[in-house]
Amino acid sequence: MSYDPQNIFAKILRGDAPCIKVCESEHTLAFMDVMPQSEGHVLVVPKEAAANIHDVSDEALAACMRTVKRVAAAVREALKPEGMLIAQFNGAAAGQTVEHIHVHIIPRWSDVPLKAHGRERADDARLEALAQRIRAALQAE
Ligand code: 5GP
Repeated sequence: MSYDPQNIFAKILRGDAPCIKVCESEHTLAFMDVMPQSEGHVLVVPKEAAANIHDVSDEALAACMRTVKRVAAAVREALKPEGMLIAQFNGAAAGQTVEHIHVHIIPRWSDVPLKAHGRERADDARLEALAQRIRAALQAE
């Protein structure tokens, strides 16, 4: 798949579009999903310009998964979910809507149904409050 530098995550990485940041490293960025499937839904992207798992370098993917593990632990500490769904989609047929590779961190509670994928825009103040709790857990590591 060719990489479109105008995709929304490329714009976020360039600073051309806003995001509610959770953490940033040399090779990755983690930020709140604006249409979360549950409270505390975070996205992690490698900074490398790659559309999907077939295009991304081993190094960028490894860095991304290190950040996923670190952020998932912070989400667990901050929000105390009963489980954690980690997902990554490749191609429209698989449900991918943004063509910059990303990993979903979706905390789950057994009595809270999963919301539809990329459907309902969340309130920014609510997302910021959740991000603050997750950032605090990262700082307490
Ligand atoms: P995909 O379907 O490609 O796996 O997931 C894309 C995700 O990006 C969806 O969960 C959707 O809610 C989220 N998303 C789409 N546009 C934006 C945006 O502008 N900012 C943020 N933070 N998330 C977005």
